[in-house]
Amino acid sequence: MGAINIYHLYPDHLNLYGDRGNMLALCRRAEWHGIKVKIIAVNPGDPINFSNCDLLFMGGGQDSDQKLVAEDLKGRSREIHQAVEDNMVIFAVCGSYQLLGHYYTTARGEKINGLEIMELNTEAGKSRLIGNAAINCFLWDPPRTLVGFENHGGRTFLGPGLQPLGKVLYGFGNNGSEKTEGAVYKNVIGTYLHGSLLPKNPWLTDYLLKKALEYRHQEIYFCKLDDSLEEKAHQFALNLAAGNRHK
Ligand code: GLN
Repeated sequence: MGAINIYHLYPDHLNLYGDRGNMLALCRRAEWHGIKVKIIAVNPGDPINFSNCDLLFMGGGQDSDQKLVAEDLKGRSREIHQAVEDNMVIFAVCGSYQLLGHYYTTARGEKINGLEIMELNTEAGKSRLIGNAAINCFLWDPPRTLVGFENHGGRTFLGPGLQPLGKVLYGFGNNGSEKTEGAVYKNVIGTYLHGSLLPKNPWLTDYLLKKALEYRHQEIYFCKLDDSLEEKAHQFALNLAAGNRHK
């Protein structure tokens, strides 16, 4: 039986539009696959040992919360960088995704420095980019769709060497102009998609669990699950996003 430790970073500060549901989906699918999961909630100031972390999850946050957690992350930067280079899995949504880059400049002109794990920068625009979204995600060949909900003022621009997570089918994605969404570096995935994202994109949940097991060189025996309900939810959200396309 596999076993993984999931660290939930700053659950009281980073949790927008159902992000916590991602944790529930990870736990439930892990249980269905026979993987033992331990959840460790990490709050600012808590002593964390990243050497025990297999999968780190961070949700979205408002500018004020991003500022607060960025301070705390600063002191942990070296340790997180080392774990990322060793292939620890990170899944970061929206505000946390922005914090994986060099900086995020808010609409008030405040510059919040990020972890610099990914070659990206974010600047707030004049309007917020809001709505249901769908992307063609490059983690699979052929690509699979991911559906979610986005609400961000920041426009994120990726450096030339950084792979986007996918191509926008419906919605705004990284910046509303380049049709890219999210970013992938090693086992680190950043995305603007809330939702919750994982319950209605079960292939991404399994992808993250598989990468976390691989990171610890554990055997992977995934069960064939009945995903008919999840697929229905996926299709429903895809139709919603498609209905937004002229807005
Ligand atoms: N505060 C950030 C922005 O508006 C992130 C928001 C979010 O996490 N949804 O761009």
